[in-house]
Amino acid sequence: MSTSARLNLYDLTREDLRAQFVRWDFSPVHAARLWNYLYLALADSFSAEAMPELPEKVRRRLAAETRLGLLPTARETDSSDGFTRKYLMTLDDGEAIETVLMRFTGRVTACISSQVGCAMGCVFCATGQMGFTRNLTAGEIVAQAVHVARSLHSSAPPKQSNPLCYFASAHRLRNIVLMGMGEPLHNYDSVMHAIDILRDEAGLALGAERITLSTVGVIPGILRLAREQRPINLAVSLHAATQAGRGALVPVAKRWPLDDLMAACRTYSETTGRKIFYEWTLIEGKNDSAADARAVGELLRGLPAQVNLIPLNPTTGYDGAPTHTTAAKAFQRILAEEFKLPSTVRQRRGIDIAAGCGQLAFAG
Ligand code: SAH
Ligand code: SF4
Repeated sequence: MSTSARLNLYDLTREDLRAQFVRWDFSPVHAARLWNYLYLALADSFSAEAMPELPEKVRRRLAAETRLGLLPTARETDSSDGFTRKYLMTLDDGEAIETVLMRFTGRVTACISSQVGCAMGCVFCATGQMGFTRNLTAGEIVAQAVHVARSLHSSAPPKQSNPLCYFASAHRLRNIVLMGMGEPLHNYDSVMHAIDILRDEAGLALGAERITLSTVGVIPGILRLAREQRPINLAVSLHAATQAGRGALVPVAKRWPLDDLMAACRTYSETTGRKIFYEWTLIEGKNDSAADARAVGELLRGLPAQVNLIPLNPTTGYDGAPTHTTAAKAFQRILAEEFKLPSTVRQRRGIDIAAGCGQLAFAG
């Protein structure tokens, strides 16, 4: 069987894995052990050393009919301040994606990709500028988190002897943002399937409250998220408070107009009781005036909301400039004082290695 035709184990939920073992006439106990090796020990092979408690015949069958869909990294780059690491990962078909690890005080976050490229074409985004190639599979999304978790674990002193020690490690991956390459709600099924695997309490056990999905505003996806009552955090990229302003930055605003988007956000918050994070890329002279701040304040009036301001990061295809810190602070003050609207200015991280928001692209 060719490698890519084999079952990717990272595509399977714990229940899928159990069902597969039953089909093979193997004990479900072995399925549970394999799950532990995959997500607690972060095993990288089917060898007896990596999976000592699995009988040889099980390991042989796994090696013949399945694969560990780990993604080889073609390149790993660290930012000069040491807070950010970017991984260029190679996929089976030769395509590539980028994943980013960000260290903040007291927490580590992995920024995960959902597609190779993106079809949404936002003018200031490097991923949008490269166009769309394909969706990632659930296994390719899970493998990014596993890779970051392994990378954290292997850099964690001191080494412990327990092969299942990853889970107990203080260096465990706890936060994920689906803000890498691609539009996650344009790849809804694979993204949700991956999230189910990542959340499994007997595995990587990422808390839903520590998973944030960012969308450009794919209305059917937002409404489906609401219907399915998925407890993850939702961020919606707004960038402008009028249909015309938004259309100039985000071409898909023509397909999903601002009024309809805000109605969907209202439905989401009413159905789930959850606030939405609204992202606003601050571009000097374009959407960073006091009038812009008041327009977003009006637009979000009455909604459970927090605004995340992201000073523009440079990309080759767009020559706008980021808003200065003082102007960003003034924008924030208007939101807070006139609209009681909480906001944050995103810390700029990894810009020297093109690992900031909107800078991820194939060429790296
Ligand atoms: N496709 C999703 C998630 C990926 S982009 C979305 O668009 O929401 C994550 C965030 O980075 C989005 O808010 C996006 O608008 C923002 N972004 C894109 N390009 C950027 C750039 N050059 N500088 C700053 N933020 C950018
Ligand atoms: Fe795609 Fe998001 Fe980039 Fe827009 S900002 S092109 S939706 S990845």
